[in-house]
Amino acid sequence: MPMFLKPRTKSYELQILHSLTPRMEFSNSLRTHFTNLNKGYIGEQNFETMLSNQLTIDLLILPDTYFEVNQSLIQVDTLLFTPSSPYLFEVKNFEGDYFIEDSRWYGPSGLEVNNPLAQLQRIETTFRKLFQQLRLPRVDVKGYVVFPNPEFTLYNAPRNVPIILPTQIPSFLKKINRSSGKLSDKPFNICQSLLENQADPTPYSRIPEYHYDQLLKGVFCPNCHKLEIIKSKNSLSCSECNYFESKQEGLLRNIKEYNLLFPHRAISTNNIYEWCEKAISRKSIQRVLLSEYVQEGKSRSIHYVKSN
Ligand SMILES: [Zn+2]
Repeated sequence: MPMFLKPRTKSYELQILHSLTPRMEFSNSLRTHFTNLNKGYIGEQNFETMLSNQLTIDLLILPDTYFEVNQSLIQVDTLLFTPSSPYLFEVKNFEGDYFIEDSRWYGPSGLEVNNPLAQLQRIETTFRKLFQQLRLPRVDVKGYVVFPNPEFTLYNAPRNVPIILPTQIPSFLKKINRSSGKLSDKPFNICQSLLENQADPTPYSRIPEYHYDQLLKGVFCPNCHKLEIIKSKNSLSCSECNYFESKQEGLLRNIKEYNLLFPHRAISTNNIYEWCEKAISRKSIQRVLLSEYVQEGKSRSIHYVKSN
């Protein structure tokens, strides 16, 4: 069975942008950036689901790591170690009809997009340098650009390039399942060293300036970001996209977003009441805070902190 060495989580940048998007105006370029990050994350998640559902042999998977080599940052979407070889996957969640002309890639609107093969090459080169820098044993990493979105089509795709199209994923994974041998300590040790040397991508992220007073308050749908949330006694639902969650879940989500955006502001019943634009009663807020957080301070300065 595949063994995932860490869970894939949304990057700090993506989490912040998610929380901000219904609450402030984004510039067009920031909106595009956010949409791309989000799509990319969904693609990586989908590919990971395919790996865990379709791979049957023992192997190691290291999802979503960042490394810095000579002041350049690379994101390695998925690393996979079979007993015989390591693979590096650059996941592209492209959707629609793409085509290649004179080695240039064009998207559905006919506009040129960054050549994913060139990107893969840059990542591979940097990754090899990283191995030298960390004095890791030389391994022959096989890099591929993988397109997990079933609605992606690529015209004029040359043969013999390291690309895995949506329809090729099952057979590619079957081939991996046929590799023989047992995992040795070597890949474990390499992964361990890689995990210890991850870079923090935050300085490279695009987080806009934001201020508490300027943000819209309220309970927003996490799916479509509309304020249209109808409350029944114990639940919240969105009239726009039919998203549904319990009041407890919705409230916890909002407390977490508040805390993520403003780690230095106190979590108190009143502050959360204001953050949710009075959409949820103080009583419900207090109940959730008492059950999920630890109370600190006395009388007027009572606030809550995360347990453990
Ligand atoms: Zn919605």
